[in-house]
Amino acid sequence: MSRLVIISNRVAVPKARGAAGAQGGLAGALNSALKKNGGIWFGWSGGEVDEFTGKIDIQRNDGVTTATLDLATQDIDEYYNGYANSTLWPLFHYRIDLTEYENEFGKGYERVNERFAEAAAPLIEQDDLVWVHDYHLLPLGERLRSRGMKNRIGFFLHTPWPPTRLFVSLPYHERLVRTMLEYDLIGFQTDPWLDSFLHYCRKELGADVDEESGRIVFDGRTTYARAYPIGIDWDHVQSQMNTGEARQAGQRLLASTRHRTAMIGVDRLDYSKGLPERIDGIGRFFDQNPERVRDLVYIQIAPPSREDVDSYQKIRAELEQKTGAINGARSEVDIVPIRYVNKGHSLAELCGFYRASKIGLVTPLRDGMNLVAKEYVAAQDPEDPGVLILSSFAGAAEQLTDAVLVNPHSRDDLSRAIRAALDMPLEERKRRYQAMVKSVREENVQQWTENFTADLAGVGTE
Ligand code: UDP
Repeated sequence: MSRLVIISNRVAVPKARGAAGAQGGLAGALNSALKKNGGIWFGWSGGEVDEFTGKIDIQRNDGVTTATLDLATQDIDEYYNGYANSTLWPLFHYRIDLTEYENEFGKGYERVNERFAEAAAPLIEQDDLVWVHDYHLLPLGERLRSRGMKNRIGFFLHTPWPPTRLFVSLPYHERLVRTMLEYDLIGFQTDPWLDSFLHYCRKELGADVDEESGRIVFDGRTTYARAYPIGIDWDHVQSQMNTGEARQAGQRLLASTRHRTAMIGVDRLDYSKGLPERIDGIGRFFDQNPERVRDLVYIQIAPPSREDVDSYQKIRAELEQKTGAINGARSEVDIVPIRYVNKGHSLAELCGFYRASKIGLVTPLRDGMNLVAKEYVAAQDPEDPGVLILSSFAGAAEQLTDAVLVNPHSRDDLSRAIRAALDMPLEERKRRYQAMVKSVREENVQQWTENFTADLAGVGTE
C-alpha cells in the first residue's frame, strides 16, 4: 500500500517503545497505520511563538515520523480559539446562538490552512495517500490542490454536520464547501450528518448527487461522501481494564458509595455535552423520587477544556451553580447526591469507574459520535452489566440502539430513564449489553482506519 500522510490540528507523538501504558484510541490506531505503511503525521505542535517562522520539527519515535509547526499567537486566537472553536464547533453542534461570526476569525482560519499546506506539501510524495482530519482543516485539500497536488486526498469530519438551514448562517458557507469538494473522499461519523452534507450540495450548490454511492459531481470534479462510524480501541480498553490502576479506581469508588448505586458521567466540560440539562434531569428524578436519594449517587467527571473561549467559562459556572443547588437541597449529613469532579483521569481509572457504576449517563445535546458511551459498554461485566442511558442525538445512538435512549432536553425523560435503569432486571440488562457489545467490539477503531484508507485508495476505481 502507499505511504500515508495524516494531517490534523494536533499530532499525537507515539510513546517510546516499551513505555508504560501503550497508546490506544484514535492516536494509537493512526500510529499503527503509519508504522505499517510508512508515512508522516503532520500538524501543530501546540507551541506558541510571537512571529510565525514556518520551521518544521521532524522527529522519529517508535517507527513513526511526526512533523510539527509552532503557530503565532494571532493564529491561535483567530484560527484555533476563533474560527475553529468559536465559529465552526458551535455551528456544527447546532448552537447558532453561541456561534461567533467574526471576519478576522475567518481570515486567520484561511491563513493557517495556507500555512499548513505550504509546510506540508514538500513532505508529500507522489503516491502518498493524504488523510486530513476534522473541522480545523476543511479547506486544506483545496490548498494542496492549488499547488498542483494530484494525490488521493481524503477528509474525515469528527463532529456532526448541521442541517442546511443552520449551515447557511455561516458567511461564505458556499466557498467553504466548494473547497471541500476538492477531496476525493469525505467521511462522516453517521448517516444523518452525511445526509445533511449531501442535501447542502444538492440544494445550495446544485451539485449532481447520487445518494446511493455518495458520489457528488460538481464543476467537473467527482467527490465521494460516506459514513464511517469511529469506534474505540477494544483491545486497548480490555488491557486497561486488567491493570491494578483500574482495579484500585473501581474499588475506591465502590468503597465510597457503599450501598448506593453509582451512576457515572464522563465528559469534557463542553456545552455540546448537555451537562446543565443532565443535572436538571437528575434534579427532577430526586424531586419525583425523594426517597431514592439513599439509592443513587451521581458522579460527574468533567475535565475543563478550551478555557480561553468565553462560552466554556460560562458553562463551568452554570454547572457549579446547578450542582450546588441540588446538593444543598438534597444532602443529608451522611449523603451527597452529586459528586462533581473537575479534573481528568486516565483511561485505566475511567475503566475502573465505568465498571463500578451500574448506570452510565451519556446525554449530549449533539455529538459527532461519543466514545465514552462505547467505552462504558466495553468495560461492563458480562455477567452483571450496567445500563447505558444514551442521548438519541449522539452519533453513537445510531449503533447502540439497545441503550436506554433519551431526549437530553427533557427532564422528565431523563428522570424516567434513571428510574428504569435503577430498577432494570438482570435479564434485560444482559440482553441490552450483549446487543451493544457486539458492535462496540467489532466496529472498532482499527477497522475504521482500515475501511477509510482502503476506500480512499480505491474510490472512483470500483
Ligand atoms: N477522557 C479521558 N479522561 C477524562 C475524560 C475523558 O481520557 O478524564 C477520554 C475518554 O476516555 C474518551 C475521550 O476522552 O476516549 C472523549 O471522547 P468523546 O468522543 O466521548 O468526546 P470528545 O471529548 O471527543 O468530544
